[in-house]
Amino acid sequence: MKALVYHGPGQRSWDEVPDPVIEEPTDIVVRIETSTLCGSDLHILKGDVPETTPGTILGHEAVGTVTEKGAAVSTLEIGDRVLVSCITSCGRCRFCKEARYGLCTGGGGWIFGHLIDGLQAEQARVPFADTSVYKVPQGLTDEQVLFLADILPTAFEVGVLNGGVQPGDTVAVVGAGPVGLAVIMTARLFTPGRIIAIDLADTRLEKAREFGADVTVNNGTEDAVERVMELTDGLGADVVVEAVGLPATFELCTELVRPGGRIANVGVHGHPATLHLEKLWARGLTITTGLVDAFTTPQLLKLVAEGRLDATPFVTHRFPLDETMAAYDTFADAATTHALKVVLEAQPLAMPSDEAAQSEIAIA
Ligand code: NAD
Ligand code: ZN
Repeated sequence: MKALVYHGPGQRSWDEVPDPVIEEPTDIVVRIETSTLCGSDLHILKGDVPETTPGTILGHEAVGTVTEKGAAVSTLEIGDRVLVSCITSCGRCRFCKEARYGLCTGGGGWIFGHLIDGLQAEQARVPFADTSVYKVPQGLTDEQVLFLADILPTAFEVGVLNGGVQPGDTVAVVGAGPVGLAVIMTARLFTPGRIIAIDLADTRLEKAREFGADVTVNNGTEDAVERVMELTDGLGADVVVEAVGLPATFELCTELVRPGGRIANVGVHGHPATLHLEKLWARGLTITTGLVDAFTTPQLLKLVAEGRLDATPFVTHRFPLDETMAAYDTFADAATTHALKVVLEAQPLAMPSDEAAQSEIAIA
């Protein structure tokens, strides 16, 4: 099969690799139909994630069809259409029993395209299948559910739920990339009073308004703290979500929050940030951190199925799966291409009986 392979910092290629096989009785093999790229893939390519070894297939978000199953898999059948999430769960360790799947110590957690071969490929081996994949509800398209593999549960759990967003709250979101936008989208499930989006890029702020931000602040040209204080009678925001991953943006969050408020950090940080306890010690703040657990994925699937949540506006570009290399170029140059999420689509498979489809492919 073909797959996008990481070959060390700055190096990737679309390679012929061996087809995945069942290695453990709890595995399935999935034919990937739709996949996507994530900022974490770019982090790996920069060399920021040393535990990902050269030769690893990247990608941790996909929708596909079960083509093989191990002897111990009991809740899935060949032919089932499944969402493969960025988080895998052994289902047996202490953390999985508490639904903290991101912390799994039994071989799960974030493993795809990180510790084992990932999902930007024609096929993938999926471990702990019974406890890790989600059947796609009938009638939903791949693009309607694909972003439930990572950005939506990440934003909802690590941003909105950790932040304890309540009806009427002022929620400030620092960073309006795909994750910040997903925070804006899922914060609205709790009817906040006002959502303030803060970013350096006007194009991203425009997107933030489309996704439901009430106020946008370009902190490159405006004083974000001053604006938020003006809007909150000098108190600050009830909840502030960090969705960038820089020391400066984390420190900004501590200035934007009201006394007694909550800061939910979602950004992945590569450098130490300063916690100004000399200013903050008496302010009654709660600061949370976390990796997505994906325990809300079934809930988010219901919201999509019932038409209460539409994840499709994240799609800005589509590429055939075999043009994954070009998709990376577009995604990595978001400043020019304005990419949010780039969707990779596999060729539809022609069934032997389906002559019409075959002749269509022949013509194409
Ligand atoms: P992104 O890079 O696409 O978006 C970041 C946004 O921040 C951009 O719009 C950029 O313009 C803005 N920005 C940069 N510097 C800024 C500054 N000084 N002030 C204000 N805005 C600034 O990233 P993304 O895909 O949206 O992800 C956001 C963060 O979430 C990343 O750090 C990512 O690694 C992290 N993440 C965390 C988890 C988790 O489980 N905790 C999961 C997925 C992603
Ligand atoms: Zn576990």
